[in-house]
Amino acid sequence: MSKPNHIVVVGGGTAGWMAACLLNHAWGGDDSHRTQVTLIESSDIATIGVGEGSTPYMRQFFSRLGIAEKDWMPACNATYKCGISFPGWSTKPGFETYFHPFFSRLDLEPAADFFTNCNRRRRGKSIACHPNDYFVAAELARQKKAPIPLEDLGFEHDYAYHFDAGLLASFLKSFALERGVRHVIDTVKHVEQNQDGSLAALQTHQHGRLGADWFFDCSGFASLLIGKTLQEPFHSFADTLFNDSAVAMPSPLNPEQPIPSETVSRAAGHGWIWRIPLTSRYGNGYAYSSKYLQPEQAEAELRKVLGAEAEGIEARHLKMRVGRVDNHWQKNCVAAGLSQGFIEPLEATAIGLIQFTIERFIDFFEKGEFTDQYRDEFNAEVNKSFDGVKDYVSLHYRLNSRADTTYWTDNREQALSSPSLQRIMAAWDEGRDFDAALTAEKTSQAYMRPSWYCIFSGMGRFDNVAEAKFTRSAKAARQLCESLAHRFHPHRAAWLAQMN
Ligand SMILES: Cc1cc2nc3c(=O)[nH]c(=O)nc-3n(C[C@H](O)[C@H](O)[C@H](O)COP(=O)(O)OP(=O)(O)OC[C@H]3O[C@@H](n4cnc5c(N)ncnc54)[C@H](O)[C@@H]3O)c2cc1C
Repeated sequence: MSKPNHIVVVGGGTAGWMAACLLNHAWGGDDSHRTQVTLIESSDIATIGVGEGSTPYMRQFFSRLGIAEKDWMPACNATYKCGISFPGWSTKPGFETYFHPFFSRLDLEPAADFFTNCNRRRRGKSIACHPNDYFVAAELARQKKAPIPLEDLGFEHDYAYHFDAGLLASFLKSFALERGVRHVIDTVKHVEQNQDGSLAALQTHQHGRLGADWFFDCSGFASLLIGKTLQEPFHSFADTLFNDSAVAMPSPLNPEQPIPSETVSRAAGHGWIWRIPLTSRYGNGYAYSSKYLQPEQAEAELRKVLGAEAEGIEARHLKMRVGRVDNHWQKNCVAAGLSQGFIEPLEATAIGLIQFTIERFIDFFEKGEFTDQYRDEFNAEVNKSFDGVKDYVSLHYRLNSRADTTYWTDNREQALSSPSLQRIMAAWDEGRDFDAALTAEKTSQAYMRPSWYCIFSGMGRFDNVAEAKFTRSAKAARQLCESLAHRFHPHRAAWLAQMN
């Protein structure tokens, strides 16, 4: 198998250390032709320091590296995540909040009734089909339980994590350094290119010239290699995703209280406010659009929501560059993380996209030939994932029914972000065969069938919003979810059981 000789990763944030760990794991073994991985990070340029929620895909990252939960979760103050709740996005009676769950085999029976009831409701029947009644994860989150069963279920129950971003980067750094990754603390001041435009070396302030045959750009929004050096065009998503700013602030978590097992993404005046429970504290923040709100107004609104919890706590203001590059792999450079693009954090997808980019690069490289075709296939796959996530995230804004500010009415009136999303929404609204529509759009989309049903029904996207009948199947589904929840640990207890 062909391997790179030397890979230099620029950047020591979550993306840089994830890349160093995965690349070193793939090719840094003990054989005579091991790949040297070097990570360079600047002590003068801080990491973004946020990014505390994941999707279930992150479990594969740890299992690929052979890292057990008890080894990394306590080190990162990490908690379990059953999904995300979305209060305040819809004002329709009965739909003021909904939960986007992570699914598992336990959901098969109640979810079958959910799909049927949603489809009947779309066609005019007044039947209860709120997603919170039909998914076990929603019930677990409601009861502050962990997605960890008391006894082996005989199959994997899916879930994700919350964690402290700084501690995760530190953990991955130790993991990588123990396995032979070289660490350079310095600032890259110039990038040398070969005649054909490929990257030759980095000129640093104190360590001179750092050459390699492959380069990973994990330099954050600076996008030092893919953007500034290789001039890869950047596609902004600002036309459908308005938020370009955030203000973040931790707050205390009472150690005597049960720990929630969900992210809360609450709609606010000009954006939304996240609340992420760790074992040590909450991470809170307000993602908003600077076109509609000034930073000091956003901070004041966040402080008001947090109340006494925010007293004496400093806020961090951040800018977000939302969009993606056209080519994430260009010449001998691959971009992963904020350097390649970013979709605002509503569905906590950024770290999953980083993981996908690095893992797929390893797969493509191991095919052994560097044809333009492989590079183009790789870039198309990564773009498809970004664009699929963009569609799904933008749909939250499009489906909102708030009328309190022009931010929300403008969001509702925006054009849909792709023809594929237009077809999906038309199929739902017109009562056509929704499953057939989703199947037809499968190659353009990143989310699975339950997520689409949850967002449309959870936001109350029905003509008929008269009081819905709680049918026998809806009642039975809710009871089933409640009884299945008995088979899971309370969050704090699960944490203790797993970590010892
Ligand atoms: C408000 C907000 C909320 C978010 N929430 C989530 C979430 O819930 N879930 C999720 O998955 N993601 C989330 N993200 C995204 C997540 O934070 C990032 O994807 C992740 O942290 C990776 O960042 P990074 O490593 O690409 O960049 P950074 O953390 O910015 O790291 C950049 C690195 O590059 C180095 N560097 C830059 N220039 C140079 C140079 N010239 N020389 C040497 N080194 C250099 C810096 O020193 C630094 O080490 C969020 C992002 C924002 C803005």
